[in-house]
Amino acid sequence: MRRTPEEFSTPPEMSKADLHIHTKASDGTFTPYEMLEYVSAETDISVLAVTDHDEIDGALEAAALADQFPGVDVIPGIEVSTFDGHLIGLWVETAFPVLRSAEWTIDAIREQGGLIVVPHPMSWLTLSFRPFTFRRLERKGYHFDAIEVMNASPAGKMSYEKALEIQQRLGVPQVGGSDAHILEGIGKAHTLFPGNTAEDLREAINQNTTLARGGYFDLDESMLYFRRKMRRYADWLGQTLVPGK
Ligand SMILES: [Zn+2]
Ligand SMILES: [Zn+2]
Repeated sequence: MRRTPEEFSTPPEMSKADLHIHTKASDGTFTPYEMLEYVSAETDISVLAVTDHDEIDGALEAAALADQFPGVDVIPGIEVSTFDGHLIGLWVETAFPVLRSAEWTIDAIREQGGLIVVPHPMSWLTLSFRPFTFRRLERKGYHFDAIEVMNASPAGKMSYEKALEIQQRLGVPQVGGSDAHILEGIGKAHTLFPGNTAEDLREAINQNTTLARGGYFDLDESMLYFRRKMRRYADWLGQTLVPGK
């Protein structure tokens, strides 16, 4: 049975999407299947975007598995490490070369029909677009489909005001994503949109009717991630160092 925890309450006419999630395909700690199982059983989230760092396999796997989980749609996405900072592409089919310019990467995502989302802009804690990046891209006529105003990580928390400011100034849609690396973090920050499918969400981004909502990870959640990362690292070391294992 699907539970609706208090913190997940959503206005009845809107649904919830988490547009920034990392699986084991990059540095997350859960598989696409575990993600879908958790979201389907424990949350009221309707749409998930898997956005692994520079990897597409987890996103494609999740998209292929989504049929087994009625009421949950998956958008294949990616968080590309560009020379100018992280950049999210939604509705993409492949990975992209890393450390190319923002311009090159935006063009490549657009070529696949993908949408461009700038995650955690202006954050010093992780590789992020800076004010001069926005100015340069604006001068060249580039535009973004959405700015990630809510990001539940410390990187998002410290840059919330600046992210909101640039989103308002550009007049582009605001979205939220958890940047979750552990299951319990999924949905912590999220996007509200009219409708309940991935296509409804895309339409909401086109119509600029999305809302960024949610909160931030507390210290316990950050420690949980750290411990699981260490365990994953220890497992990996074990497999690497013990012959035949
Ligand atoms: Zn990032
Ligand atoms: Zn991320």
